Amino acid sequence: MANFADWRDRMLQAAWRQGDDFPEGVLEWMSELYGEVGEISGEVFCELWTSRTFSMARAAFQVIEKSVEEETGKQATGEDYCYIDYVRDPDIGPVGVVRIKSVEVSTPDWEEILGTMAEGVQEFVMSHYRIVWPVCENHRTGLHVGYFRGISVWNCREGHSGGHVVRAIDPATRLY
Ligand SMILES: [Zn+2]
Repeated sequence: MANFADWRDRMLQAAWRQGDDFPEGVLEWMSELYGEVGEISGEVFCELWTSRTFSMARAAFQVIEKSVEEETGKQATGEDYCYIDYVRDPDIGPVGVVRIKSVEVSTPDWEEILGTMAEGVQEFVMSHYRIVWPVCENHRTGLHVGYFRGISVWNCREGHSGGHVVRAIDPATRLY
């Protein structure tokens, strides 16, 4: 595995990332990639990294868009407004960036992407419809994106214990 570790470090460097404390899912994907196609170049790696980030972002957006519609009856997407940009520009970095409202993500990590997209959609719902989404049913206040056991979640900051985890952002994910 010495070769893999060496290749992995070179690829992370090519993508302008640090190897330490890196999302488990990304490292697993890199390991699978190495097993399947071997030592690809940094340039090819950055292409794959970007397309994986972009497709994950599209999938995450669908999950969140569905939640918004079910919970508010409002559309988070439509012909009249587009607030997500998929940016691929060598001047700003070796990998593509997904921008949604004031937040952005450029790492193909599902939970990070889901959390970022949720934050962006929340911002859109607030600015476009003037409604707070999502809301804690107990405290009637707006929720905030957070992470719990590596899973992206909606957190409420109210309550006696100084806040609580309400649910996973992806309705298909069970927290406990
Ligand atoms: Zn609450």
